[in-house]
Amino acid sequence: MESMWKPRKVVIVGAGAVGSTFAYALAQRGLAEEISLMDVNHDYVEGQVLDLAHGLPFYPSVQIRVGQNHDFADAQVIVVTAGAKQTPGETRLNLLQRNATMIKGIIDEIVAQQSQAILLIATNPVDVLTYVALKHSGWPKGRVIGSGTVLDSSRFRYLLGQHCNVDVSNVHAYILGEHGDSEFAAWSMTHVAGVPVDEYCAKYGPVANWSHLREAIVQDVKDSAYHIINYKGATNYAIGMALTRIVGTILQDQNSILTVSTLLDGEYGIKDVCLSVPCLVGQDGIKQIVEAKITPGEKEALSKSASILQDALQQLATA
Ligand code: NAD
Repeated sequence: MESMWKPRKVVIVGAGAVGSTFAYALAQRGLAEEISLMDVNHDYVEGQVLDLAHGLPFYPSVQIRVGQNHDFADAQVIVVTAGAKQTPGETRLNLLQRNATMIKGIIDEIVAQQSQAILLIATNPVDVLTYVALKHSGWPKGRVIGSGTVLDSSRFRYLLGQHCNVDVSNVHAYILGEHGDSEFAAWSMTHVAGVPVDEYCAKYGPVANWSHLREAIVQDVKDSAYHIINYKGATNYAIGMALTRIVGTILQDQNSILTVSTLLDGEYGIKDVCLSVPCLVGQDGIKQIVEAKITPGEKEALSKSASILQDALQQLATA
């Protein structure tokens, strides 16, 4: 009898700092039987794969290979971390145009293989490129996901855990909107083990002047990537873990609520733009957008993010 078993296969396009760290984290978690890495720089991807594969005796069972286009055909998840870097003097819009063209080229290869995978975009600006990927692929919106503010929400939880001196796993907190400068903290949804965060900090937190600190924490979340890039040139470990969390949720059909970037179609009063809101994620990708009861101020912040992203999409369309 023919076996029904299929290896869980993840293809990573872009084997740079983010792609390779994600591959390393994914391999260690034992969430996939096959990990294929692809990159336009052939020597570089050969080197990354050899280095990763030499750890095979120490991972749970997994095969790590250099991928080819045909690997898209039977992948469960395809993660795009490929990105052009800003050249000296280059405008953000020009970089955006180059990355949009690159994403469209990658999507063409994936679609040509009649892939049924879930597509996860991490390349920045992630919300705009998720929209470009979704429209260019013609795939259902649940199957094209941006990593969005999953990383930012984890930075937020980390900082709250540190300030409140409590285990981060007891901190439930969400950064919504653009993965970028207009993102904001949904304070109305933030709690520590079911206790609203303000109440928790007033009662149990070691922190004086909490209301002032709230703003400083959000600013710290927004500045995190800038700080890390100033120190070491790239961010890779936490995004590697965030991508592993999203991909694990898909491969294990976990139905986790994650702040991934998705196309809104009237939810929160917003249409025709991708940004991060809480979403139910499982084997089909995004199964449901969760419409939380956010405050009017938070709704305004979400609309502001949406209009910034719509402007960027408009500029891209008319450039
Ligand atoms: P990197 O320069 O180290 O790696 C990018 C890789 O993409 C390079 O190896 C390059 O050769 C490859 N590449 C370029 N064009 C390609 C193509 N058409 N096909 C296949 N490979 C191609 O960069 P990085 O530090 O790994 O960052 C990658 C992207 O991830 C950037 O856009 C970065 O801004 C983004 N990023 C996103 C988040 C997030 O939260 N979404 C966090 C960190 C970084």
